[in-house]
Amino acid sequence: MTAAAGSIAERVAAVRERIAGACARAGRNPASVRLVAVSKTFGPETVAEALAAGIHEFGENRVQEALAKVPAVAELAAQRGLPVPTWHLVGHLQTNKARAAAGAFAILHGIDSTRLLQVLDRAAAAPVRVLLEVNVAGEPSKFGFAPEDVAGAVALAQTLPHIEVAGLMTVAPRADDPEDVRPVFRRLAKLARGLGLPELSMGMTEDFEVAIEEGATMVRIGRAIFGERG
Ligand SMILES: *Cc1c(COP(=O)(O)O)cnc(C)c1O
Repeated sequence: MTAAAGSIAERVAAVRERIAGACARAGRNPASVRLVAVSKTFGPETVAEALAAGIHEFGENRVQEALAKVPAVAELAAQRGLPVPTWHLVGHLQTNKARAAAGAFAILHGIDSTRLLQVLDRAAAAPVRVLLEVNVAGEPSKFGFAPEDVAGAVALAQTLPHIEVAGLMTVAPRADDPEDVRPVFRRLAKLARGLGLPELSMGMTEDFEVAIEEGATMVRIGRAIFGERG
């Protein structure tokens, strides 16, 4: 299933219902899963519509795009008496944007190298929450640490005063059947457990229910809420 028909409010309700269903199957509390609405390519008006529908956390994958959108959404929120949302960077971060990203986002999901951890630590004025991206399936086209390199990255991060590793993140391979990527999510969950990391950012429009069944604490959902990107 990709984009549902209907208004953003209807799509949000449908996604929340599916999250609740997955939680029920897994014996989990729906409050333990944060819905991050991935608003990349959509403008401030559309984000404000989702905000009015009760979404409080948004994900962007480009720093420049977010730097323009964040204040525009804050202004619309103020005009309409809506809460100011929290912003997540869900994509790859270039080292030359580390300082800007550290100031603009509450959490950075795509931290994928020890060099980036070091640059971010030096650039940040205050501690930054990050998730380490793991390339669980070893796809050559994807960013992320190899699973066997994550423990070393966590150990390095513990020596960096401005870095707080909250958990792990992955983008699963494309699959016709989301069941096919269940082992990827299971492996990320096991890795995080072994390292004592509480947050697991996994699951997108095509596979979020399976990710929740395997322990996701944050799902990053774009198309099921906003529709297909142009
Ligand atoms: C675009 C994006 C998403 C959302 O993808 P959908 O398939 O639209 O739900 C999630 N995570 C990352 C890293 C993305 O870039």
